Amino acid sequence: MRNVYDIVIIGGGPAGLTAALYSCRARMKTLLVERSLCGGQVLVADTIENYPGFPEGIKGPDLAAWMLKQAEHFGLEVKMSEAEGLILKNSPQDTFKVKLEAGESAEARALILATGARWNTLNIPGEKELGGRGVSYCATCDGPLFRGKDIAVIGGGDTALEDALFLTKFANKVTIIHRRDKLRATKILQERAFANKKIEFRLNSVAVEIKGTDKVQSVALKDVKSGAASELKTDGVFVLIGVTPNSGIASGNMTIDEQKYVIVDHDMRTSVEGIFACGDVRKKLLRQVVTAAGDGATAAFAAEHYVEGLKPDGK
Ligand code: NAP
Repeated sequence: MRNVYDIVIIGGGPAGLTAALYSCRARMKTLLVERSLCGGQVLVADTIENYPGFPEGIKGPDLAAWMLKQAEHFGLEVKMSEAEGLILKNSPQDTFKVKLEAGESAEARALILATGARWNTLNIPGEKELGGRGVSYCATCDGPLFRGKDIAVIGGGDTALEDALFLTKFANKVTIIHRRDKLRATKILQERAFANKKIEFRLNSVAVEIKGTDKVQSVALKDVKSGAASELKTDGVFVLIGVTPNSGIASGNMTIDEQKYVIVDHDMRTSVEGIFACGDVRKKLLRQVVTAAGDGATAAFAAEHYVEGLKPDGK
């Protein structure tokens, strides 16, 4: 027998989990497809200080667990699988098909893409070779391995500065390497980083090679203004240079921009009727847990109205 969902949500980060909460509370038959643990990038956030309601901050994994529990409380069904592809509808009354692993699939009247984004890489010599041997993309995961050591952090955004501050809990010294003379990060993080005695800056500098045999020993730098080469001795390199949207499943099916973010309108509608996108995978100004949650709520509300509109009496 066919098992048709009203709404299938792809991705279980804060956007997907909030969409699931709203969808289930609207009594939509809802399936959330997630390839690993629910929570997305929040799972590796140490403390989240800017999600309202938690004056002391909240641990990322705790917030993710509570969000999942809340959606499940209202009847959410979760399927652990990669969503490998989409088959679009031929007509509004038709269903979307999400191709899952092992030849399985899920059918839905409406889809919500909440597939998030992934860490960017530098693509320089030594980065891949020394991955897991001093090169890391996740301070929360690997920071405690660098107790009393020297660490280089590459990037000048919120992630780089927030994680550099976190890494000072363990490291002897943290050097932030940034390609410009101005940081991109929020002012409050800049103030904290400048005030932290364990943090040093190498501005106008790019990493050109990560060196080491068994483990990271140094990073070769180039001054972008003078062209001068230098070498910084370090035990670890944290590459924290932003994210790329996980929009592979959208590509070719709906409008995405040149950076591969899915384009949506104010109600999270993509260019395909019946498909909505929310959170870090969509084009927007601010990528935060709070904006992901807001997007998820809007996407679910819009998807619910779309599904209700498909009923013969339109109610
Ligand atoms: P981001 O804001 O895109 O910043 C990326 C940083 O890496 C920029 O400083 C960029 O330099 C640099 N960069 C990019 N490619 C590079 C390369 N190939 N070589 C060297 N440097 C490179 O990314 P993010 O810091 O991961 O933040 C992503 C989103 O999450 C943002 O919207 C951010 O606000 C949000 N976030 C918020 C918080 C918070 O509020 N607590 C914490 C973490 C993340 P340029 O500046 O020169 O472009």
